[in-house]
Amino acid sequence: SSASAPAADSASVRVPQPLPVLGLDVPTPLVTGGQLPYAALDYAASAPVLRSVWEDVAAYAPYYGSVHRGAGHLSQYSTALFEQSRETVARFLGCRESDEVVFTRSTTDSLNLLASALPEGTRVFVFETEHHAALLPWTSAGAETVFLDAPRSHREAVETLERALSAAPEGPKLVCVTGASNVTGEIWPVRRLAAAAHRYGARIVLDAAQLAPHRPVHIGELDVDWVAFSGHKLYAPFGAGVLAGSPDWLRAAQPYLAGGGASRKVARTADGGVGVEWQGGHARHEAGSPNVIGAYAIASACRALSGAGFSRLAEREGELTRRLLDGLRAVPGVKVLSLFGTGASRTGTGDADSGALEAERRVGVVSFTVEGWNSSHLAAALSAEYGIGVRDGLFCAHPLVGVLLGADGGSTGECGAPEGQSLNAVRVSLGAGTPDEH
Ligand code: PLP
Repeated sequence: SSASAPAADSASVRVPQPLPVLGLDVPTPLVTGGQLPYAALDYAASAPVLRSVWEDVAAYAPYYGSVHRGAGHLSQYSTALFEQSRETVARFLGCRESDEVVFTRSTTDSLNLLASALPEGTRVFVFETEHHAALLPWTSAGAETVFLDAPRSHREAVETLERALSAAPEGPKLVCVTGASNVTGEIWPVRRLAAAAHRYGARIVLDAAQLAPHRPVHIGELDVDWVAFSGHKLYAPFGAGVLAGSPDWLRAAQPYLAGGGASRKVARTADGGVGVEWQGGHARHEAGSPNVIGAYAIASACRALSGAGFSRLAEREGELTRRLLDGLRAVPGVKVLSLFGTGASRTGTGDADSGALEAERRVGVVSFTVEGWNSSHLAAALSAEYGIGVRDGLFCAHPLVGVLLGADGGSTGECGAPEGQSLNAVRVSLGAGTPDEH
């Protein structure tokens, strides 16, 4: 196909490489038969690896060894890097002294881990607008889940949550909320939702999969109990994620996986069985040989993003998003999807909003439909003809897309559009390697 693996070494084609943005260098491969530099506009699905992350991983790879088990040099070295990576992530997230940082496989894994650690009788409150990773683990783990209707403003989000919490019976409660939508890019009022949750004695976990690559996520300042994010959306696609936050529920829970590393002492019992004394702390939920490279890559990406500075990254991204929105609004039949009314320009007259305003409203994620177009065809054409990689479908947020498109957008199919269904959208998502021009 025209978008197959790039002929990156083609001597006959000069590829304009975008300059590293604020020191964040994202290599750009060639596509469409080696003719076009690839415009990666699908950061919300997976961000490409930063060159610095790749170089850090490559430098470490020859010294890889098992962690927490060996007396040998490689094992000791790997253990030190693994634990330093944990500290780097804790700093990146502004963790409190007592917080645990657990390395997982992804945001999905992190939220499932937390779901497995809910105290008996916990009621979970979650907006229907969440990504399936934040929507589904709770019922799956057997918790009673209260699904909250899509709010149409920040204020309505807070009021909806407060109403639901005030009507809930006594007992442990957990609120799960996203920091930024993977469909509309819109930023949620996390601090206000956290305050509301705590006012009613509930805990709150932040799904920061989309927020963490674009904005500072500071557990203490947001006053959330847990944060979950994925390395592959944070320019570190090496199969690791993070759950960080309060230790109490995690320590009291059964280990997420049973096995070596999570067990402190295992012995035969008098009745012929096997008794286990489990570890406390992060080790309790990291059984088996952990993904050391993945954790190290996440730490490297955390350092790179902190070095570049989130305010400068957000400023550039806000300006790119403004240009994107202005361009889209000029196309007849385009509808930008928005929950909080940020799809139309501020005045509704087509006047341009500023980049700074866009950065306040959303991360660089914009979904849209074009009247008369099937979104999948549009996405395929952008890839084949222009070397532009976008996403189409329902974005693993079927109820949300249903609300946004004014229909039940997802009764079948998983993350893509159900077969024969054109009620889907195109998503453009930006990041540090997105070129200013293409
Ligand atoms: N939450 C949000 C908001 C997401 O966008 C995603 C991924 O698209 C996830 C959770 C799940 O992340 P992962 O697939 O890395 O587990």
